[in-house]
Amino acid sequence: MTALIREIFSSVQGEGPYVGCRQVFIRFEGCNLSCRYCDTGRVIETDTCRVEIEPGGRFFLELSNPLSVQDVLDVVMNNYKLSLHHSVSLTGGEPLLQADFLKELLPSLKQTGSLVYLETNGSLPDALRPLIGMVDIVAMDIKLPGTAGCSPLWDEHLHFLSVAKRARLFVKIVMDDLSSISEFEEALELIAGVDDGIPLIIQPMTRGGKCSLSPGRALGLQAAGLGRLKDVRVIPQVHVMMGQL
Ligand code: SF4
Repeated sequence: MTALIREIFSSVQGEGPYVGCRQVFIRFEGCNLSCRYCDTGRVIETDTCRVEIEPGGRFFLELSNPLSVQDVLDVVMNNYKLSLHHSVSLTGGEPLLQADFLKELLPSLKQTGSLVYLETNGSLPDALRPLIGMVDIVAMDIKLPGTAGCSPLWDEHLHFLSVAKRARLFVKIVMDDLSSISEFEEALELIAGVDDGIPLIIQPMTRGGKCSLSPGRALGLQAAGLGRLKDVRVIPQVHVMMGQL
């Protein structure tokens, strides 16, 4: 089994409640969505996977795509000291597009003792279902259609939440000052209907390295969120500020 991988590197998590935790990132190529604010999903560069062999050194080894499960394990095991890392992050793009590959990769990753952290757009519940027993943490997006510029995904998100809650789950919603309040409220209802203890992260959209959610708006959204959910935080993309990958 092989997969198209864009890059593998070691850095700190820059989003959500695990911000600052050191992770090995495996970034899968391609996405089934095309969000307006995307910085990774659209461009398809399938020829090579870049591997940063010295964390933070910005020297990249180029490997030919697609990579086998063993290729990925070799990169992870031979270049990064896993004991320094909180977890291995499967990110993208959308990693669940390559679910058959994950089915083979995850048992071996688990054998290393690493936690498996899945970053996903939350739209492919059927792909997650057979994998959920091997995933420790799910970082799931809920897409507000008006903000992301996509079709409504409420049904997909609902099914995804019901599967993903078997792991440690949190939800992230990217928002800016123009985001629809009614769509945000719909997302709150969706989450609360599954479990009002699922943490929600409101992530201000980053434009030109700056947050595009004003302070008052951010606090107002958090207050609205806390009316339905127990844990609602506002956390920007910290890795962008630090110049981390
Ligand atoms: S789901 Fe993520 S990777 Fe895919 S287009 Fe949207 S922001 Fe980009």
